[in-house]
Amino acid sequence: MSEYCCKCSPFLPDYEIDLAEIALKVEKGHSENVICEGCNIKAIYKDDAGLLYLAKEVDGEIQLESITIEKLMG
Ligand SMILES: [Zn+2]
Repeated sequence: MSEYCCKCSPFLPDYEIDLAEIALKVEKGHSENVICEGCNIKAIYKDDAGLLYLAKEVDGEIQLESITIEKLMG
């Protein structure tokens, strides 16, 4: 079964992967893998200061993009 995150689900308002919920659970200095069929998000990372990043795969490389919890709740 395909799973889509709240950012790219073609079935909005329905989605399987709640990025905001994952972001709230992940501990500082850790990351949580995200497997979404629809977009290139691979993980959510929270740094030691509590700042959130989306790890995206771009041309085979992982890039970190700064994000806020408000944006994830979108
Ligand atoms: Zn997605």
